[in-house]
Amino acid sequence: MNRVALLGSTGSIGTQTLKIARQMPSEVRIVALAGGNNASLLSGQINEFEPRFFSSLRPDLVVSHTATYASLEDIAAHDGVDTVVVATAGSASLHAALVALRAGKRVALANKEALVMTGHLMLEAAQTPGSLLVPVDSEHSALWQCLRGENRDEVSRLLLTASGGPFYSCSADELHGITPVEALAHPVWSMGRKITIDSATLMNKGLEIIEAHWLFDAPYDRIDVLVHPQCVVHSMVEFKDGSIKAQLGVPNMVLPIQYALTWPHRVPGPAPAMDWTVAQSLSFEPVDTARFPALQLAREAGEAGGTIPAALCGADEAAVALFLDGVIGFTRISELVEDAVHAHVRCEAESVEAVLEAEEWGRRYVRECVAKSGSVTMQPLKGEA
Ligand code: MG
Repeated sequence: MNRVALLGSTGSIGTQTLKIARQMPSEVRIVALAGGNNASLLSGQINEFEPRFFSSLRPDLVVSHTATYASLEDIAAHDGVDTVVVATAGSASLHAALVALRAGKRVALANKEALVMTGHLMLEAAQTPGSLLVPVDSEHSALWQCLRGENRDEVSRLLLTASGGPFYSCSADELHGITPVEALAHPVWSMGRKITIDSATLMNKGLEIIEAHWLFDAPYDRIDVLVHPQCVVHSMVEFKDGSIKAQLGVPNMVLPIQYALTWPHRVPGPAPAMDWTVAQSLSFEPVDTARFPALQLAREAGEAGGTIPAALCGADEAAVALFLDGVIGFTRISELVEDAVHAHVRCEAESVEAVLEAEEWGRRYVRECVAKSGSVTMQPLKGEA
């Protein structure tokens, strides 16, 4: 029985984690739930799962079950918790993730910023005996599964797959006129708003390069990205002898979440099986980094290290929000992030505070740039007057 604290229970990964917990009561028990602003969903979850602890940003949360309020850090360190699922957005759970690792827990990481911004702090904390840092992202779960039982010295390359997002076949001109509504309609994956836009710019894949670097101790020049629109191969590992291992499955987050909770075991669960009775083909192509500069930008930020990835995250968050508000165009997101990364003065990322400061600097930089230059007029796509 895995006693799970779920931080970010009302988001996309959070609700899917609860779907697994609901269907696997003998493997997973929810002992703590933490949510943000969706008070009605969180209180419903608390009433259903009856956790020992809860945490909420909303002081007006009405809980009929006798759960005790606790901070994210207290939940993360509690003796009655085996695994902390970190599924909160942004940097809300950075401290809690570190606390959990230092307390010797398993941390199932669904949050990108934690590794991108504080990778070396996470790895340091994960040296604590008993602790284990496991990926929940589908690509990294795939790499983790492919590497299982293998000698890391025999790996030559990690190959992350990318759907390419909804606009992969758009010309550079067409990319200018993309609207938030179009960008939010991801063809395969159903995810939160920020990550859906990051998938469309390929920034998401860029952040995943940085995550893979930390999780698998891989040099940046040994991590490549391939566009694979079907999203059936979740990622691949190439070995020194030329052999390639891939992990495949229905594009759905249930399996990566479940594997993070049940590892080292594989058990039946709610993940859908592939339907091999229908013909299907899988295609792969290299990424066009000229049309999608965010990928290279993130890779360079990862290589530069220090507080640069944090500045990148902050700048991207602000730019995506401005795009969703209709203030800037789609291609402006990457341009603003690039300006911010080049303007940021790199410091050592020696503490969470230093990292958060750099992230906030990135946000502010982008907002100030846009405030100075004024907003652009959105250009509608053809056929949409
Ligand atoms: Mg992913």
